[in-house]
Amino acid sequence: MRVNIIGAGIGGMATAALLASKDHQVYVYEKNAQAGGKMNQQVLGDFRFDTGPSLLTMPFVLEKLFSDCGKYLNDYVTMEPVEPICRYFWQDGTEFNCWQDVKKTLDEIRLIAPSDIHAYKPFLSYAEKIYERTSNAFLFNPLNSWRDFLGLPLTDMARIDALTTVSKRIDSKFSSPYLRQFFKRFTTYNGSSPYQAPATLNVIPHVELNQGGYYVKGGLYELANALRKLAEDSGATFVFGEEVESIVVENKRTTGLQMKNGEVYPSDIVVSNSDATESYLKLLSDNDISPSKKKKVAKTEPSCSGFVLLLGISKTYEKLVHHNIFFSNDYENEFHDIFEKRVMPYDPTIYVANTSYSDKEHAPKGGSNLFVLVNAPYQSDNWNWAEKTETYSNHVISLLEKRGLADLSSHIVEQDVITPDDFYEKYRSNKGSIYGTSSNDRFSAFARPRNKSKEIDGLYLTGGSTHPGGGIPLCVLSAQHATTLIMRDFR
Ligand SMILES: Cc1cc2nc3c(=O)[nH]c(=O)nc-3n(C[C@H](O)[C@H](O)[C@H](O)COP(=O)(O)OP(=O)(O)OC[C@H]3O[C@@H](n4cnc5c(N)ncnc54)[C@H](O)[C@@H]3O)c2cc1C
Repeated sequence: MRVNIIGAGIGGMATAALLASKDHQVYVYEKNAQAGGKMNQQVLGDFRFDTGPSLLTMPFVLEKLFSDCGKYLNDYVTMEPVEPICRYFWQDGTEFNCWQDVKKTLDEIRLIAPSDIHAYKPFLSYAEKIYERTSNAFLFNPLNSWRDFLGLPLTDMARIDALTTVSKRIDSKFSSPYLRQFFKRFTTYNGSSPYQAPATLNVIPHVELNQGGYYVKGGLYELANALRKLAEDSGATFVFGEEVESIVVENKRTTGLQMKNGEVYPSDIVVSNSDATESYLKLLSDNDISPSKKKKVAKTEPSCSGFVLLLGISKTYEKLVHHNIFFSNDYENEFHDIFEKRVMPYDPTIYVANTSYSDKEHAPKGGSNLFVLVNAPYQSDNWNWAEKTETYSNHVISLLEKRGLADLSSHIVEQDVITPDDFYEKYRSNKGSIYGTSSNDRFSAFARPRNKSKEIDGLYLTGGSTHPGGGIPLCVLSAQHATTLIMRDFR
């Protein structure tokens, strides 16, 4: 069977590897010159940056992908646990390191939040329970038809803490403002707000704190290289610099791809790793899908986006480790700005990844490569990046100086910026969102576009905008689900 895949993001490459390893003829068409999609990299002078993910969780999902293709993940990349997992800074001078070792983390909590020392481990057990009750239903299952629900313990699904918000649940468990803000932060891992998302998302701390947070030696982009190589080793062919204009449909069945350069590439099936909203609304013609489907897709709420500064600096800061978070003073107001007013917060939480802490060659001797990320609203009329990028960049740099990175601006050697507009232009992410669809309401897990089109035969979808969601491991799971559904149809 010939398979045409649109896009060489994580979902596209993982699906290519799985299908090629089953001896299908697989072609991946990517509009950009390099693979990876949002998991990408950039070199500025002597500095190297990951421009997307910086932390890997659930590595067993990748191990399974490689072993399903008859390969070993460790032959392709070297993964290592990051220590500390992250260092947190508050504006009153409080600092906190979160470690892979719970005992070390508890020693730190004893210093900053003694009243919560007995709440930490029970909270991690509660997060683990949610994982046990949700993962088989919402992560490891294509959720495509009634047969996918068979055998799932429905009583478990009723006990997943979906009736309150992340924030309210955390406030009920912890009294210290530090631990409350620390735990609320995890909701941003899938681009949602802790003040709106169901407490079910308290599962995320389990994934990082119980299962571990990892770095890929050489930078996370090594994983994109590994996925491409896995797909090529399995027999897939990549074509770069070719953009798909539309998915060709005849009698409600895909027959191939119409490319922007005028070529038509026929195929038996199409797998789209382009954002699901883009796929349904821009790559299919109005005649191909029903108005009700169009309306449903258009209403899909994207996750938040991100504002990224890449700073190559001629200095190392003692206080910076690999992952660093500088918290805002008013977390609720920050999320109100991002998710409701759709403007950049004046007092944002700022994440700084400093991979030169672990990989010295990512910056020249005595320098650092700072990837600075601020959560941002998805593209909206309320914030014009064309006018505001420079001012906001300077604002973030001056905030970092106030929060402990003294004289940062005078040490900048290289600088670049990525805004929500760029995330749309470069990767066609719906409204510049970076984690697919939002999980801000309790039905989002059921509302994500599925990995197989119900209206068009032979069309499958993969990637962070589809079930089960955004982030590296979930994108790989979306590829597993798309492949399962394809194999069901074409056994
Ligand atoms: C700043 C940032 C930080 C992040 N941090 C983390 C993190 O720490 N950990 C984590 O797990 N995840 C993180 N993520 C999320 C993660 O990067 C994404 O969920 C994931 O990379 C999305 O992969 P995808 O399969 O959806 O493909 P995408 O990345 O969306 O790639 C889709 C590809 O399709 C191509 N394409 C689209 N339309 C067409 C067309 N018409 N023709 C040809 N090609 C097309 C695009 O160019 C793109 O290459 C982060 C993301 C960003 C941006």
